[in-house]
Amino acid sequence: MEKRPFAELGLSPEALKAVEKMGFEEASPIQTAVIPVALTGRDVVGMSSTGSGKTAAFALPAIERVDAHKRAVQVLILCPTRELAVQVAEEFGKLALFKRGVREVPIYGGQSYERQYRALAAGAQIVIGTPGRVMDMMERGALKLETLAMVVLDEADRMLDMGFRDDIEHILKSVPATRQLLFFSATMPRAIQDLIGRYSKDPEWIKIDSVALNAPQVEQVWFEVDRRSKLEALTRLIDVQDFRYGLIFCSTKIMVDDLDEALHARGYQTDRLHGDLSQMQRDRVMQKFRERKIEFLVATDVAARGLDVDDLEVVFNFDLPNDAEDYTHRIGRTGRAGKKGRAFTFVSGQELYKLQSMVRWARLDVRRGSIPSLDEVDEARTNVFFEKIRSTLEAKQFKPHDRMIDRLLDEGYASTDICSALIHLLQGGAPAKAEVKKPAPSKAAPAEKQAKPAPAWVEKKATLPPANAERVAPSEPELKKASLGQAASLADERDEDEEPPRKSKYERPARTGREPGMATIFLNVGRKQLITPADIVGKIAGVTRLPAGVVGAIDIHQRHTLADVAATEAEFIVKKLAGIKLKGVPLEPALAGAATAE
Ligand code: ADP
Ligand code: MG
Repeated sequence: MEKRPFAELGLSPEALKAVEKMGFEEASPIQTAVIPVALTGRDVVGMSSTGSGKTAAFALPAIERVDAHKRAVQVLILCPTRELAVQVAEEFGKLALFKRGVREVPIYGGQSYERQYRALAAGAQIVIGTPGRVMDMMERGALKLETLAMVVLDEADRMLDMGFRDDIEHILKSVPATRQLLFFSATMPRAIQDLIGRYSKDPEWIKIDSVALNAPQVEQVWFEVDRRSKLEALTRLIDVQDFRYGLIFCSTKIMVDDLDEALHARGYQTDRLHGDLSQMQRDRVMQKFRERKIEFLVATDVAARGLDVDDLEVVFNFDLPNDAEDYTHRIGRTGRAGKKGRAFTFVSGQELYKLQSMVRWARLDVRRGSIPSLDEVDEARTNVFFEKIRSTLEAKQFKPHDRMIDRLLDEGYASTDICSALIHLLQGGAPAKAEVKKPAPSKAAPAEKQAKPAPAWVEKKATLPPANAERVAPSEPELKKASLGQAASLADERDEDEEPPRKSKYERPARTGREPGMATIFLNVGRKQLITPADIVGKIAGVTRLPAGVVGAIDIHQRHTLADVAATEAEFIVKKLAGIKLKGVPLEPALAGAATAE
């Protein structure tokens, strides 16, 4: 499909400067086709897939259309979700950077009316909003549409899916007949064709067949995975590829909650996005995700709709999406702006046929992959670690410790052994004698964990290791592998005694005193919040990035928890945890005391 330089599309110097500043080298096919037509004032129906650059395709002509001297609403963009409205508004802000006096305002539910009133009263010419809130503002008399010159329906198909049809029609009936109307949609169901037929005047139909702007950049792989093994498969793929930034799609809110919790407990930094969250919660999560304070966002389709984040490394379809459209929408979140992305899809049982028909229908380019074995996971972790050491050496990002090393060498240890011992310690290994712990009797699985049934995709491990099994504190990789004591069935490959005992390694029946070298941290959460040891270890490891091995015994009480941690890290951990939320409670950690030397 044809692409052209922006300079050939009839845009003003100010617009070209803004595009240049955004780093767009050339216009995408949909932009190339839409912009010149839209600039003539003609109605347009644009069809292209997610990630093809539709926003700039309508935003640039819209900005050109605005008379900056008139302080009245001239352009209205309707979007399905508030997230999308905010993102589109941000893109407008950037593209209008050099147009003096042009202002945009996003209008959406959940935000105080005050701010939106003020922005409107101040004379914003471009309004970007969800249909519900736009109607609302019209009814309150705060939004007047008599001066409107252009209306854009972004993701029209989605808006109809979400039940906005009546609102949209009401709005379209209330705007001047002279307005230009642009429709954008990834699909063209009957209902949309009806709307177009009734409200636009001889529109130019522009359909771009290519998949996303950067679709060839998305490597798509599917895996046949038993439902109960999905969690294990997911973490292995994440570990092997060392992914740090991605989206994981589940089909239901409950699955989202369960998976988020399970991943979190395994030490991944995750959060969730679904329809049950309040707008404020959603805002917070999105913000954290954009700032990369979260590695993985677990979401439903609806919640993630229109979410525009750059540089996603991977999209996981933990559950198969409903149809090829949703699939394309989901994977359009990765591989953007010329960067290579991955889309991994899990398929179990009958879903295989569904995927096959999607592949045939939408001509998806998906290949089959196999889940890495435990050995491959270990090797990959080693490689990651190796690279870290190498880059630290190359960048010389370390303080010399010559004296300590000389002393060890003087005592006759080989340099290779010294390094190996250090690596062992770094990976969360413990010195042989001091920190060997006996797990508590195995039946000590806390009641609250039993009260909540394990999600379907996690197979409960019936057998527990012998009560006298001696274990050292787990390393971080071990924690990641330990699935809350519930191993997925991929664990067939795993020895029985490789499986950490069911949480019990962190528990003990009564406080019998601290291990040497450990300090105790007080935390203001406990059984009341259904806290489990895995929550605590996951939080500490996740937030501090220290190996999980720094955490020792954990005592969970009704309203508080006492956690032993390596004394050398205790202060750091207290500082890092302060204010971080665990099960919705902001943590107020405090140092409760340190072990006296033996
Ligand atoms: P769509 O609305 O079709 O899903 P977006 O407008 O959200 O697509 O654009 C997807 C991504 O591509 C955004 O990150 C956007 O900044 C980027 N983009 C848009 N146009 C171009 C372009 N001409 N060159 C490079 N990147 C672009
Ligand atoms: Mg879009």
